Amino acid sequence: MPKFDSCPKLSTFGNTIRPFVFIMENRSVTSEAPSSPEIPGLAAREAPIHLQVGERRFTTARATLTEESGFFAALLSGRWENALQDGSYFIDADPNLFQHILAYLRRGVFPLFDGAQGHDHHRYLALLEEARYFQIPQLEAWLSNKHYMMAAQVTYKAEEYDEDDPRWRTVTTAAGKTVEYHPQWATRKVYLCPRGIPEHRDNRTGCGRRCESARGDDGDQFEEELSLHILVIKREVAFNADVCVSRAAEE
Ligand SMILES: [Zn+2]
Repeated sequence: MPKFDSCPKLSTFGNTIRPFVFIMENRSVTSEAPSSPEIPGLAAREAPIHLQVGERRFTTARATLTEESGFFAALLSGRWENALQDGSYFIDADPNLFQHILAYLRRGVFPLFDGAQGHDHHRYLALLEEARYFQIPQLEAWLSNKHYMMAAQVTYKAEEYDEDDPRWRTVTTAAGKTVEYHPQWATRKVYLCPRGIPEHRDNRTGCGRRCESARGDDGDQFEEELSLHILVIKREVAFNADVCVSRAAEE
């Protein structure tokens, strides 16, 4: 029977670490990092590690876990015997959050929880707690400084078209853009020819001398005309890739 306990020596790594492992009884403690039983000869740092995180199982390389995470550096230091009987390690964490932790440790790419409603701040906050728990300083800083706010920038561009303008029907957009159409009625003043000649309508310079004399003393006549305008709003989300990648991963 495994005894559920915390590892007292881990407290030397700082008081933020919480009890997290099963301590197996009757197993010898070795100072060497255990090599993988499946692939003999594979370097210990590249050896696969199996993690039981909550109800899900993850497999990754030892180096992936230990390079940036103080938690895993301590857990897998080999100084304590804390593996389960099958050689895996039990991590008491939410696997849905842990998958983002592991994705970061693997490639150094920060997570973006950006949906139609904007950033999912609740999820960032939950992941920040995990970054603290697993002692990953870069990820913790990125989350606590809210650098994800700079990762996705939304720009809006408005264009107005007349109803008759065919261009608004064929607005093209790249991926990551959305287009909204806002039809708007507007009124405008239209010049009227005193003789009612259709070609002179809305064309003051079209009227000649005979129109002028027909005008009399009333001055220019106008009427108001309704016209439909199409306001096209393009929304573009641009990702700033530099913000999304850890500098530690690039080195
Ligand atoms: Zn005229």
